[in-house]
Amino acid sequence: MIDLHTHTTASDGTDSPFALVNKALSAGITVLGLTDHDTTSGWAEAVSAARKPISLALGAEISTLTEDGISVHMLGLLFDGENSEIQAMLSDARDTRIPRMKKMVELLRNDGLAITMEDVIAATPEGATLGRPHLADALVKNGVVKSRDEAFAELLTNDSKYYVTHAAPTPEDAIKLIKVAGGVAVIAHPLASLRGRTISIESFGSMVQAGLDGIEVSHRDQSAEESELLRGIVAEYGIIATGSSDYHGTGKLNSLAENHTSREEWLKLEAQADARRVVNA
Ligand code: AMP
Ligand code: ZN
Ligand code: FE
Ligand code: FE
Repeated sequence: MIDLHTHTTASDGTDSPFALVNKALSAGITVLGLTDHDTTSGWAEAVSAARKPISLALGAEISTLTEDGISVHMLGLLFDGENSEIQAMLSDARDTRIPRMKKMVELLRNDGLAITMEDVIAATPEGATLGRPHLADALVKNGVVKSRDEAFAELLTNDSKYYVTHAAPTPEDAIKLIKVAGGVAVIAHPLASLRGRTISIESFGSMVQAGLDGIEVSHRDQSAEESELLRGIVAEYGIIATGSSDYHGTGKLNSLAENHTSREEWLKLEAQADARRVVNA
């Protein structure tokens, strides 16, 4: 089983990279994609935990924004982690998440909700990319809501009045840097309409032109109709279809490999990287 999109405590997942690799082994996963938000800091621990029969496709999920301000998540896999250009982009992205979080906390406080930036920092694992799920955890700890899910449903969705965006590259710029660093680019859950505004079908053209290798067709936040539409786009452009869990540990319902990628599509995707970077134990 091949699952190319998962999160750990290096961002907003609840399992350490070590624990994730062990769970993936028990779940029968043969290729595991490690895609923490805007960071590669979990890679080394995952590599040290890997053993037969699991292989790792190391990567990151890069937060991008279209010129119309629509949030797009771009998975970069199999890129050279030492590439300074991609690392600079990831580091800029992490930096902008701090003032953004301060603004969200301020808006919540202005409405009388019990939350401080210190609470959010305390709820964030050391070194993790700061995100809304950490804010959600702090709100749970303070008794404002009961769970991450409730925090999102009531306070933190993209259309909420407390939502603040952060500066980010365009999807095309992110794709170009992933390619410069020798990796492959797959757009994550592009039509997950539950999460907020999604891109138009026309916008796939410029991403493919920038080097997009694939589309995450199967993902729990996309309906059967949305997946079908994406399959058509994959066929139209002759690119690759993936499916993945977007596992976050106990923070979300997603279970490992609940959606997965076929071996055939995975082999095509891997062949698009400029070097063989899959980590075999
Ligand atoms: P951010 O990167 O700070 O904008 O936060 C986005 C993250 O919030 C994504 O990784 C999602 O997985 C997570 N998220 C979105 N909706 C929910 C939810 N209902 N429950 C838990 N996590 C969520
Ligand atoms: Zn996440
Ligand atoms: Fe995402
Ligand atoms: Fe994700």
